[in-house]
Amino acid sequence: MINLKYQSYVGGQWTTPGGKPFSSVNPRTREIVATYASCGKAEAERALSMAHRAYQRYRALDKDAIAKFLGAIADEIEALGDQLLDTADRETGLGIPRLTGERARTCGQLRAFAQLVSEGQWVQASIDTAQPDRKPLRRPDIRRMLRPIGPVVVFGASNFPFAFGAVGGDTASALAAGNPVVVKGHSFHPATSEMFCHAVAKAAESCGLPEGIFSLLLGDDHALGASLVTHPHTQAVGFTGSLRGGRILMDLAANRPSPIPVFTEMGSINPVFICEDALKTKAETIAAGLSASVCMGTGQFCTSPGIVVIRENPEFEKVLAGMFAEKPRGVMLHARIASGFAEAVSETMKHGDVKWLNRVEVTASDDKMTPPNILLKTSAAAFLADPKLSEEMFGPAILMVACRDAAQMREVANHLSGNLTATLHATEADSEAGELLEILEQKVGRVVFNGYPTGVEVVPSQQHGGPYPATSVASSTSVGADAINRFSRFVAYQDAPNGLLPEALKNENPYGIYRRVNGKLTRDPL
Ligand code: NAP
Repeated sequence: MINLKYQSYVGGQWTTPGGKPFSSVNPRTREIVATYASCGKAEAERALSMAHRAYQRYRALDKDAIAKFLGAIADEIEALGDQLLDTADRETGLGIPRLTGERARTCGQLRAFAQLVSEGQWVQASIDTAQPDRKPLRRPDIRRMLRPIGPVVVFGASNFPFAFGAVGGDTASALAAGNPVVVKGHSFHPATSEMFCHAVAKAAESCGLPEGIFSLLLGDDHALGASLVTHPHTQAVGFTGSLRGGRILMDLAANRPSPIPVFTEMGSINPVFICEDALKTKAETIAAGLSASVCMGTGQFCTSPGIVVIRENPEFEKVLAGMFAEKPRGVMLHARIASGFAEAVSETMKHGDVKWLNRVEVTASDDKMTPPNILLKTSAAAFLADPKLSEEMFGPAILMVACRDAAQMREVANHLSGNLTATLHATEADSEAGELLEILEQKVGRVVFNGYPTGVEVVPSQQHGGPYPATSVASSTSVGADAINRFSRFVAYQDAPNGLLPEALKNENPYGIYRRVNGKLTRDPL
């Protein structure tokens, strides 16, 4: 059992900062769960100075020591037991079954990175040996690999308090690459973040790591985030959250005297395209799958299906509207998210060509925290003409876009901006699927066939990203082994003596990893 301190953890010390207090609130009961004082510039300064100092020791650690640390964090998280689940449930209302699954995913991520680091392969070692007799000039010996970059600042999202939280995938991958991490904890679940921080602090102590390797700064003043991003010791930022917040942090980082990369994973409308034969032969199944996917977690998933592109089909509309009506209402994470959803829906509804297909009476006394599951419809012409209809409604809502024919469905696909996912329902008889796929793969990070976009499998082949505005760096992923690449950079060593090279590049190949030597992949020593 952890005795919560209701404090931030700054450079190895539990601290009560001088900033104004803020509280997390139980979304089901509206009771205050926990109150913290906000960190500010002074805490940002201390956390990053300590992280900068810790970096010099941490970056020099043997790979197995880093792997041990990551494994120890996972063990300590599991040791938090039901207290972690109960605390998070009270702060988010996500429910124990969902949080239990998310905890397994979070510990799984940490252990997967531990294994990746311990295998040593991720550094992409490449060696081109010297050619002393090359004319007119000798070719030098060049060896290259990925190295850590320095302190990374992480912002977690409200809707994934574990997997994209204080010790989620961004933190795990940044630590795995050899970097200290300073987390700006989400203001909706500070006590949950504190619990994770206890797990990291214990693991760091048992592994003998320096203070400053991990800090958790809690606060609800956006000036704190700005101080962290603009601090000269910060070398990169990992962010999961809204387009608005992500864009502000990207601009702050770009305007620093020395700009730094910001890996933002933001909102997405995750279009679902249903081809003609699929609609004819599987309408009921697709409607059931879609309504389950959008209502899961009260629609508060970055991969929630936000638009459905389809040929005009009143029968399917009726079936889908019926299924929406049968789904129970869920609870939103926070009053801010609930009012954001209500506003986004009412903005969309203002459009003259948008209809609410499963309309229910919403009265002033209706509870915004448990909104109805909403099915809207518009025409392809209206969707193409008004960019506002392409904006994310973060909650349980789908906008159906009714098209005339396959050509208009392609026009809608071409019109889309970057997204995390696109889904294609098609049978073998749907010859239009190939052309749609060609367009969609240019717009998204993951194309789902005959399925639903919610549920992101954590495996090395996963791609959780996509062109802007889904993310800031379309070539990166925040899920899967390659997430580590975001927080590292290549260094080449020219004619370096063998004794001074990092282990991965030494002649003897002490790690026994595959290396690209003079263009060929091999595990042989030189
Ligand atoms: P959010 O409001 O953007 O908050 C995320 C974090 O950024 C919080 O710590 C927040 O601080 C901070 N922040 C926001 N705006 C800021 C600003 N202007 N300056 C400094 N800091 C700022 O996002 P959210 O509501 O937690 O998450 C919901 C969104 O995340 C949805 O749009 C969803 O689609 C997206 N999401 C994306 C993914 C993905 O993988 N792509 C995963 C999950 C969620 P405060 O706590 O103080 O507000």
